[in-house]
Amino acid sequence: MLIAAPALERLVASIFYKAGCHETEANQIARYLVEANLVGHDSHGVIRVAPYIDWLRDGRVVANQSIEVVLDAETFAVVDGRFGFGQVVGEATMRLGLEKARRHGVAVIALKNAGHLGRIGDWPLLLAREGMISLYFVNTNGGGILVAPFGGIERRLSANPIAAGVPVDGGSPILLDISTCAIAEGKIKVALNKGVRVPAGAIIDAAGQPTDDPQVFYANPPGAILPFGGHKGYGLGILVEILAGALTGGGCSRTGERRVANGMLSIILDPAQLQPGDEFAAEVRRYIDFVKSSRTAVPGGEILLPGELEERTRAARLAHGIELDDNTWGQITGAARTVGLTPREIEAAIADG
Ligand code: NAD
Repeated sequence: MLIAAPALERLVASIFYKAGCHETEANQIARYLVEANLVGHDSHGVIRVAPYIDWLRDGRVVANQSIEVVLDAETFAVVDGRFGFGQVVGEATMRLGLEKARRHGVAVIALKNAGHLGRIGDWPLLLAREGMISLYFVNTNGGGILVAPFGGIERRLSANPIAAGVPVDGGSPILLDISTCAIAEGKIKVALNKGVRVPAGAIIDAAGQPTDDPQVFYANPPGAILPFGGHKGYGLGILVEILAGALTGGGCSRTGERRVANGMLSIILDPAQLQPGDEFAAEVRRYIDFVKSSRTAVPGGEILLPGELEERTRAARLAHGIELDDNTWGQITGAARTVGLTPREIEAAIADG
């Protein structure tokens, strides 16, 4: 089905409100989830509504939580998300980092025990809009282990995204947002819901054999995701575990059942303080023009900067709506019913206006 973003956002907000979140929290979760669909990352959009509601019911994520700043220095802080919704504790943490970077030119913020932070690209975008460069390293604090190490076949790392944002004078920010594995787990879930295969070379079965069948990944014993780019993505994934797990205090991947939470190390830099004057902005612009002036690999092809694809997808989906497969829609309405929304209330939430 095709659904307009505002209608989907209203429905998702009403589900979280009914599940016990304050109105502002429910709206914030809905806004970030729908935003992920808008920019084309369905893996981190409303497909998460049903698992988030399950986690809330199980106490794995806590409604209406605020951050605790456990260590507060001038240029760095350690923050405990106390298992609050990532969309809420994540944003609060970034606002703390923004304030420190404005004052000192640089800030390092170690966040642990955040509920799922969703699409990490939301945070560099928020900071870039405030004129800041920022870098992010994210793991799952010991839960959600998905990725085999280079040369191994058993899960030892989480998807471990790295994200970064750079403000561009007079244009959209450069926005890099990638997991360090060959495919984000959410995209395997999307493929499972749609009944399609995953790209070749992304996952292996429990015996270490290549497969493109998403069901094999969730089988018992389970398969694993491969790092992207062999030893290179693997090396970055190890670095992420250390920065987002050990250095935040949230923990690295390990044996034993742990609830999925995100640890995130953020580095925020104020270019206006490191390079006062107009030269930084001018150099970034010059460099973008240089990159885009390359001949293209195919006739009529185009060179995009990180972030451009999402921006275009966003414009298209805002105009034409968000496509949801039947399974995902069924899971969302199922979650709505479990929190007590009636079919009439669901209809009212997605009605025009
Ligand atoms: P991906 O492989 O889709 O890569 C996205 C990045 O590549 C973006 O920066 C995009 O602009 C850039 N890109 C794509 N095509 C491009 C092109 N033609 N030219 C230039 N740049 C291009 O990302 P992914 O690894 O599948 O991750 C998807 C999402 O999953 C991300 O938003 C990530 O933050 C999220 N994620 C979150 C968690 C978590 O624990 N919260 C874990 C893993 C992934």
